[in-house]
Amino acid sequence: MNILVINSGSSSVKYQVLDMADGTVLSGGRLERIGEPESRLTHHWRDAAGARQEITRRDPVPDHAHAFERIATVMRESGSAGQFALDGIGHRVVHGGERFRAPTRIDREVVEALRAISALAPLHNPPNLTGIEVCLRLFPQVPQVAVFDTAFHQTMPVHAFRYAVPESWYRGHQVRRYGFHGTSHAYVARQAAVHLQRPLESLRLITLHLGNGASAAAIEAGRCVDTSMGFTPLEGLMMGTRCGDIDPAILFHLNRETGIDLEDLDYQLNQESGLKGICGVNDMREAQRLAAAGDERARLAIDMYCYRIRKYIGAYYAVLGRLDALVFTAGIGENSPPIRKQSCAGLDRFGIRIDEARNVQACTEVIEIQAEDAAVRVLVVPTNEELEIAHQTRACLMVRA
Ligand code: AMP
Repeated sequence: MNILVINSGSSSVKYQVLDMADGTVLSGGRLERIGEPESRLTHHWRDAAGARQEITRRDPVPDHAHAFERIATVMRESGSAGQFALDGIGHRVVHGGERFRAPTRIDREVVEALRAISALAPLHNPPNLTGIEVCLRLFPQVPQVAVFDTAFHQTMPVHAFRYAVPESWYRGHQVRRYGFHGTSHAYVARQAAVHLQRPLESLRLITLHLGNGASAAAIEAGRCVDTSMGFTPLEGLMMGTRCGDIDPAILFHLNRETGIDLEDLDYQLNQESGLKGICGVNDMREAQRLAAAGDERARLAIDMYCYRIRKYIGAYYAVLGRLDALVFTAGIGENSPPIRKQSCAGLDRFGIRIDEARNVQACTEVIEIQAEDAAVRVLVVPTNEELEIAHQTRACLMVRA
């Protein structure tokens, strides 16, 4: 069974075709800078002999409709499309609101329902929806499934997902915690159970997705019971350019003091805060390089970043009451031993202690990094959101078949 996974963003489209027999990537690529004078499409595929081939095209691509046509053309021309037939298409959709608790087969009614909840994620859902509409037109014969970033977190109990604000905000405007990065948290939790050779139902886990965006989740018996991102992906941990938790009264104060408007505040909290706000760069590797060269602001940014993670580990330990494993994943979680070490510092009394030598192993598959006698297993698990979307798409199509 071959599944095409599509992640359609505001100015880019990422895609992969996976052979579900063994999870092999048959072809894939990304088209960036849609709508700009020079868009860039990088496409890779396996040729008949199994060797990896890659091409890059640079021409203007005015919109998403042209983007998908361009991708289909490149697939055809490179011969990558001829090697397989598509059995399904899985679309990443950032926000599923309260209605979409699971992967959902797409039809006209679902498209309309997605349009109705687009206001919940105005930057993300509209380009996801555009991708869906174009693919329905281009591949009408292929069944298509929407896989939601929010769905995994829909198991949170009401006391975890409600905010202490007037009830009318929730009833009338769907204001509540939704959580994001759900496909990644779900994937690494399952991989952790496989690695530990324990049923997921028997485990209490804290998963830490530390990439450009960052979030933590408390998972009991495979179900999310709390997560750090909220109504939007702005809440929780400190991120590359996003602030994470702040006192909302700061916004009223700034508005009164400077007259700054809502659009500008939105921009500053999403694009100019986090690591970038503190030390001027949003990339962790760059922040670490600056800190190593003696830059005080970069040192502070890293200290704040790790301190926040430690606070969430403590909070979710209390939520779960017992912890079997702590799981690090995504760009920073998978690749930065110093961040893992600093985030777990001082947690010995919780049973969390990292072994220096194990922590610096390369992580191409699941590794364990806890000290020999530590009570809590600490794992590094490479995430694979495309594979998880493909798995969920296949599962959804099998149920319907
Ligand atoms: P992602 O969004 O998952 O691609 O993660 C991007 C983040 O991972 C960026 O902040 C990168 O600087 C960071 N990252 C990737 N490799 C490393 C590394 N070896 N050490 C520290 N950070 C890394």
